[in-house]
Amino acid sequence: MNFAANLFIISAASGAGKSTMLRRLFAELSPVSPMKFSVSHTTRAMREGETNGVEYHFVTQERFREMIAENDFLEWAEVFGNYYGTSRSAVEECLSQGTDVFLDIDWQGARQIRKVFPGARSVFILPPGLDELRRRLEGRGQDSPEIIAGRMEKARGEIVHYDEYDYVIVNDDLDEACRQLKAVVTAERTRLSCQKIRQADLISRLLSGS
Ligand code: ADP
Ligand code: 5GP
Repeated sequence: MNFAANLFIISAASGAGKSTMLRRLFAELSPVSPMKFSVSHTTRAMREGETNGVEYHFVTQERFREMIAENDFLEWAEVFGNYYGTSRSAVEECLSQGTDVFLDIDWQGARQIRKVFPGARSVFILPPGLDELRRRLEGRGQDSPEIIAGRMEKARGEIVHYDEYDYVIVNDDLDEACRQLKAVVTAERTRLSCQKIRQADLISRLLSGS
């Protein structure tokens, strides 16, 4: 891992607002420093409005199994009856180029990533309540009532792992939650180990008196 680059894991119960917060974060911070959202592979059906290669790489179960066998995934897990996995080569290439990488993955994937990248920083997003979580899932208008019921049932199974994460953000007021996420990312980017590399030229000029 290039120590100028950070690997961020973002997890939450579905509907808590992860994608919304990440979109805002990218709009604000990507002009400041290179960052990339890792596009996972999944076997779930594409939702209306999704594009292959943008939200996910949509693949068949057969192709997913081949990719597992070829060790193509840094981590993979079964979530809501579908398979999801993070591409090893895409993440490693970005990190080696000094680009921060953001993974939107579940708690099972987060556990696997921490083993491979102990320096990864993980953030758990909590909804302000279960009623509000249901309202957000319904308001998103992307899933059938059966799927929403399934997601609500599984929310507790995700939330119970909140204490495995480095940071916990409550997404009640969206602006405030986004400020907190931005603060976490900015703090990580200003760590000594990052800045030694990112600011090497400046530090050498300052120390040489030129
Ligand atoms: P996730 O990616 O965690 O599944 P989304 O980002 O798709 O969740 O958000 C689910 C829905 O909730 C979206 O319609 C989004 O606009 C809405 N939403 C997100 N954050 C908030 C918030 N703080 N207050 C109200 N609605 C929100
Ligand atoms: P959705 O189907 O709503 O896009 O995502 C469902 C869940 O799968 C979310 O909790 C999301 O974080 C998780 N997920 C998405 N991609 C990956 C991945 O590559 N690995 C793992 N472990 N989970 C993922």
